[in-house]
Amino acid sequence: MSSILTPASFLVSALFRREVLDLHAYHVPDSSGCIKLDAMENPYPLPQTLRVEIADAVASAAINRYPDPRAARLREKIRAVTGLRDGMDVMLGNGSDELIQLLAMAVNKPGAALLSVEPSFVMYKMIATFTGMRYVGVPLAADYSLDLPSTLAAIEREQPALVFLAYPNNPTGNLFAADAVMRVIEAAPGLVVVDEAYHAFARDSFLPHLARYPNLLVMRTFSKLGMAGLRLGFLAGSTVWLEQLEKLRLPYNVGVLPQLVAEKLLDHHEVLLQQAEQIKRDRTGLHQQLSEISAVRVYPSEANFLLFSVDDATAVFNGLKQRGVLIKNLNGGHPMLKDCLRVTVGTPDQNNKFIDALKEIITQSARG
Ligand code: PMP
Repeated sequence: MSSILTPASFLVSALFRREVLDLHAYHVPDSSGCIKLDAMENPYPLPQTLRVEIADAVASAAINRYPDPRAARLREKIRAVTGLRDGMDVMLGNGSDELIQLLAMAVNKPGAALLSVEPSFVMYKMIATFTGMRYVGVPLAADYSLDLPSTLAAIEREQPALVFLAYPNNPTGNLFAADAVMRVIEAAPGLVVVDEAYHAFARDSFLPHLARYPNLLVMRTFSKLGMAGLRLGFLAGSTVWLEQLEKLRLPYNVGVLPQLVAEKLLDHHEVLLQQAEQIKRDRTGLHQQLSEISAVRVYPSEANFLLFSVDDATAVFNGLKQRGVLIKNLNGGHPMLKDCLRVTVGTPDQNNKFIDALKEIITQSARG
């Protein structure tokens, strides 16, 4: 961008809040022509019969009309697949990102804090910043587990209105100890959101604990389950919370087509779950392959991605990109992620291409 002060840029800096001007937009790299293993997407297409069923439904969709503002049918199907109890409901967001923003807006009284752990999902901090909330990031322990004493101390000190814990965590991939998460929920004076974006790949969930903790909400997304393109996330919890949050949800935030397609997919939920099972099996294989490379340190994962570190993450990232494999370079994002990279579990063929390219880069740099 030009550094010459045009009238527009003058106005922008005069009008916009400092927090906004200082922010860096969420960066999405160009992935054209690449094997895309950077964004935790499900690599599998839908079965042909299901694609035809969706195409038929889309062909007769009333896109001249606004969508059902309450998405009643879709919410009912989500309630059914998640087995929510009475008194609990779900609220839909245009991706779970939108729900994080909505929660921040709801509790954002002057001085209110949003607390999370670090490293974790970057949007917690970003949304806290642009909604003008005080952000508190509590470092994880060196092995990326929850540092319970310092998290409890920060809760006591900062009295956060909102706590986000990603379960499993992104970008580290691990599942925090459930009893530590419970201690956080019990100690928090405000709302605790357990973000289960990767629940389909994990062995535990907080959904069954909703009735036990009045200050708990569970957030999930369909993005990692094969519907990233639909932009659909949901918040599950007591209707007491959701009725209030509903007032902040923009009308028609989930369009006709996402509602319709997600309904069809939930009718065939088993297809998505089978794909998730396949991804979990391939995660084990990929973890094994990475752990056999001596220059690589790979971490345990309950998500559809693996965190690993190398001597020079940026060189490996660039080398992979040159070979047509896009993963995520986390180096520089947080001190605890020095020389770390994150790879999404792809199809077996994609995973093999990634491993071959990685081995080639590491062998070359050892020789050079
Ligand atoms: N939570 C976590 C932990 C995530 O990693 C992501 C996406 N990377 C999201 C929420 C947002 O997902 P979406 O907006 O696609 O629903």
